[in-house]
Amino acid sequence: MLLYIKIIYNITDWGGILKLNERGLLVIISGPSGVGKGTIRKALFDISDNNFCYSVSMTTRKPRKGEVDGQDYFFVSKEEFEKRIKENGFLEYAEFVGEYYGTPMDYINKKLQAGKEVIIEVEVQGALQVHERLPEAVFIFIVPPSKKALIKRLQNRGTDSPSIIKKRINKAEREYSLAYKYDYIVVNDDVANAADRIYAIIRAEHAKTERSIHRYYKLMEGKE
Ligand code: 5GP
Repeated sequence: MLLYIKIIYNITDWGGILKLNERGLLVIISGPSGVGKGTIRKALFDISDNNFCYSVSMTTRKPRKGEVDGQDYFFVSKEEFEKRIKENGFLEYAEFVGEYYGTPMDYINKKLQAGKEVIIEVEVQGALQVHERLPEAVFIFIVPPSKKALIKRLQNRGTDSPSIIKKRINKAEREYSLAYKYDYIVVNDDVANAADRIYAIIRAEHAKTERSIHRYYKLMEGKE
């Protein structure tokens, strides 16, 4: 017991978390469009004790009012996006309602190796691609409290035309059936609450035996 406590104090890295694995976690926040992924992600970053990094995606969609290039997205042309696809520059990418969205590869590797938690926010096809390549990542599916709530949110956002909203709603209907592929489901009943639950998930994931046993044994053998 005493030894256990000593280890805990030696390896506290952030937020008092007991981090036995040195590599950061890749956390995928996913779910239907309009469910509030972006708002939850921002609330998650506002929780003071964290070493999270947000991987800014690249898209061919036009910026919405108030969106900043390099902060909300890297806004690029279709030609530039397709060039990056050919160069294998994405961890994943997907076509969503007529536009490309993708996660640039270079940033993620660098941050994970530095022990940072990398948060990416992607739609469902993209999350499933990451699952194929990096099944050890943490997959979180955000759902609305009801279908009605999602439709209302998409309509009230006032950022998309009625035809795009309809496409997004149709897509959401298909995406719900893929929830079983994720590790966790978080209901967006309240933003702060949902962010809190994701924070708790990340902490718990660090304590998973398969992520921590290797270093734990090294510590026991006095090799660190
Ligand atoms: P929006 O146009 O509303 O910003 O994004 C449309 C959808 O694309 C949302 O579900 C959003 O989470 C998702 N998305 C944003 N970035 C990426 C990305 O890099 N890859 C994939 N696959 N989806 C993304």
